Amino acid sequence: MDAENYGLYFHFPFCLRRCRYCDFYSTERKLARIPAYVRALMREIEWTGAAGGSPCADSVFFGGGTPSLLEPGQLGRVLDRIRKSFRLDPQAEITLEANPGTVDRARLAAFRAAGVNRLSLGIQSADDGELRMLGRIHTYAEAEQACRDARRAGFANISLDLIYGLPGQTEAAWTHTLERALALGPEHLSLYALTLERGTELARAVRRGALPAPEDDAAAEMYERAEEMLAAAGYRHYEISNWARDASPAAGAESADLCVPGFPARACRHNLRYWLIRPYLGFGAGAHGCAAGKRYANIRSVEKFIDRIRTGTPRRFPLTPAASRSSAHTREDELREAMWLGLRLTEAGVSREAYRSRFGEDYCVRFRKEIDSSITDGLLEWTRNGEALRLTPRGRLLGNRVFQLFV
Ligand code: SF4
Repeated sequence: MDAENYGLYFHFPFCLRRCRYCDFYSTERKLARIPAYVRALMREIEWTGAAGGSPCADSVFFGGGTPSLLEPGQLGRVLDRIRKSFRLDPQAEITLEANPGTVDRARLAAFRAAGVNRLSLGIQSADDGELRMLGRIHTYAEAEQACRDARRAGFANISLDLIYGLPGQTEAAWTHTLERALALGPEHLSLYALTLERGTELARAVRRGALPAPEDDAAAEMYERAEEMLAAAGYRHYEISNWARDASPAAGAESADLCVPGFPARACRHNLRYWLIRPYLGFGAGAHGCAAGKRYANIRSVEKFIDRIRTGTPRRFPLTPAASRSSAHTREDELREAMWLGLRLTEAGVSREAYRSRFGEDYCVRFRKEIDSSITDGLLEWTRNGEALRLTPRGRLLGNRVFQLFV
């Protein structure tokens, strides 16, 4: 992965209905503004590409929100504009997050034809009672159908999102969800422990006793259960919450060209940028970016985003008038991020040699105290060849305790 290459993230903050656990930035009220939002995105792409001198890009990620609410024609126009404004690698990974309640076979085929080559489906659970508790707009049968439709539409790279540690969820129910998800043969799985975010409906229901509080111990057991089952099914656990296959029976010819050395073939190339501290550009309301020595965030309002782009003028790369916050991203920031984000890479860990050649110093000198105490506490270990530092199985359960030492 070349540091001159950018990953492009597009935030699409529209949903049909808010899920009860979600605190991401998205709105269910402004669907009529989608065409104006897409026009603003196209302008933002054009300005950023021009300000950066048509930079190279090798991954595109449409996240949200629910970007699968876009019409395939709209998404195709956004991709065309990207190809005009950036030097987009012909083998670029192009991911679309999709809610199973918003897609059918024809739409999926049209997204595929528009250039999307990786689908991330938020199926969350195989239990309809759990899906209702979460406020999802689909049943499990619909999620399964969406996955089958995606295969028929030509997707050879499918990721499934699941959530565990739900109020009242049993280990048997979680095992059943994992079994059903594995039976769909995804190339990639992202498993997230439910966090009760303040202000969400689910957090309020737990607080007033309408739902039992999720238990940390139960969630830890579910995580370990997933580790066992996914390893047995041939998935590599490459990041704390992410598993991927090396190859897939469904893989097309394109797949081999999309991998990052040292990681499973179907690891998410775009998300690896975040953990390997590689530059990415954010587009759309609420999107974040980190490039050219700056961290920045776009304004978190659909209306203000559209307005700022409509009335503003281009700014110096990587910013556009939509950026409401920016700060320097210094070498000191990178040195620390390379540790606490790199340690999320459960298999590879943080390579001592790669760190030394990138920053010209040894992390064992700068962080000696933090590393020694984490090893003593059984949270960090050296890889078998002694070249990289990584989390132990116990450290994976207590990752935040380790990360905060390096922040
Ligand atoms: S679909 Fe995704 S972004 Fe939208 S409310 Fe649900 S979890 Fe949040």
